[in-house]
Amino acid sequence: MPYAPHAVLAMMLFIVVMTGLGWLPIWFQDRKHKAVFWAMIAAIMLGIGMIGRVTLPFRLAIVVGNLGILICHALLWTACRSLRSRRPVPGLIILPAAIWLCFYFVPAFQSNVCFRILVFGFLSTWQNALAIREIWLLNRGGIVIRGWMLGVLSLQTVFTLFWTITMSLQPATKGLTLSSIPGIVSTLFGATGFILLLGPAIVALDKELSDLRHRDVARNDVTTGVGNRRYFDEALSRLFYLASKQGSPLSLIMIDADYFKDYNDFYGHLTGDRCLQTLADALKYCCRSGDVVGRYGGEEFAVLLPGTNIEMANVIALRMLLKVRELRLEHGGSPNGVVTISLGVASMVPNEGVDAEDLVELADQALYMAKHSGRDMVCAADKVEGHYQVDVASTRFGAFD
Ligand code: GH3
Ligand code: MG
Ligand code: MG
Repeated sequence: MPYAPHAVLAMMLFIVVMTGLGWLPIWFQDRKHKAVFWAMIAAIMLGIGMIGRVTLPFRLAIVVGNLGILICHALLWTACRSLRSRRPVPGLIILPAAIWLCFYFVPAFQSNVCFRILVFGFLSTWQNALAIREIWLLNRGGIVIRGWMLGVLSLQTVFTLFWTITMSLQPATKGLTLSSIPGIVSTLFGATGFILLLGPAIVALDKELSDLRHRDVARNDVTTGVGNRRYFDEALSRLFYLASKQGSPLSLIMIDADYFKDYNDFYGHLTGDRCLQTLADALKYCCRSGDVVGRYGGEEFAVLLPGTNIEMANVIALRMLLKVRELRLEHGGSPNGVVTISLGVASMVPNEGVDAEDLVELADQALYMAKHSGRDMVCAADKVEGHYQVDVASTRFGAFD
């Protein structure tokens, strides 16, 4: 008849192994979920190690149990690495376990519980720190689970350190067997509990990252990296609605590259694509964080500026025009000799009489005016005596030096 806590622990560890196996379908669903795979192997490794610790004779149990936990830590770190698309490092996965094993063959280490605990505590804290670093570096915006992961990993590190210090100060005579309360507590919380918390979080984080990647693909234009037309249209109706609720102005700048057909004819489509990418970067550079830059179509871009009136939008448009001039991108087919853009600006405080299409229409008219007044300039449409119209005077921004 096994010792009662052993039976309970064996059952728990069986649950850990089964939990790990339970993630198998998620990984099968999409083999690109590498983090899920590593978290799954980590759980299985831990379960096997701990079951060995419960069932094997004392000395062997210590070896198998500790190696299981150390490899589990290293695999969790590997899972965190793969969330950042980094490859596993087999040498580093087995290194902590190998170090511990080498120590174990030193007789003085074998007989000194305090020393064993310190080495084990140091190795697992080191692994945790590496995992925390990976999650910390995963700093793209909008990840909900990141804070939770950092919290659980930090808690585990604090627990490991606390456990290491207290246990090395008061080492149990026969080490941490599972028939002692500290042994059971450290097994339950230090290893098993955390993998049950961390594993699903890794699965969730992996899924979240994959969703974000899909969202990026659905939203962003492949050539330029800015929002695509669909994203822009969604942003326009969202920001128009918000502006009408808040009674704040919404500005739109329509931008068109000048003589771009000639650019393609001169330099080829691939160079044309690179030029569009550079233009998109220049436009983004001139915007603030809440502004939306989208590719409206072909060589046309559109920028939404929430909470921005016509004067400010004109300043931003002029900044864009000058920024593109500053790039001095050679253009053999343009009278200016360099790539330039024309910009049409419109601004509205949305009210019942107008809708988002009117704003686009107005900015388009302004752009048309800029094109027909000589290109490489900014034209604005504003409300004059209650009516929106293109302000021809704004073309004064256009003189090329
Ligand atoms: P304008 O100054 O009047 O705007 O003249 P334009 O030549 O820029 O205007 P037009 O509308 O005649 O030509 C637009 C060109 O933009 C034609 C097309 O080859 C090019 N273009 C559209 N989309 C892409 C793209 O994704 N990549 C490249 N390289 N060129 C593109
Ligand atoms: Mg065009
Ligand atoms: Mg053009």
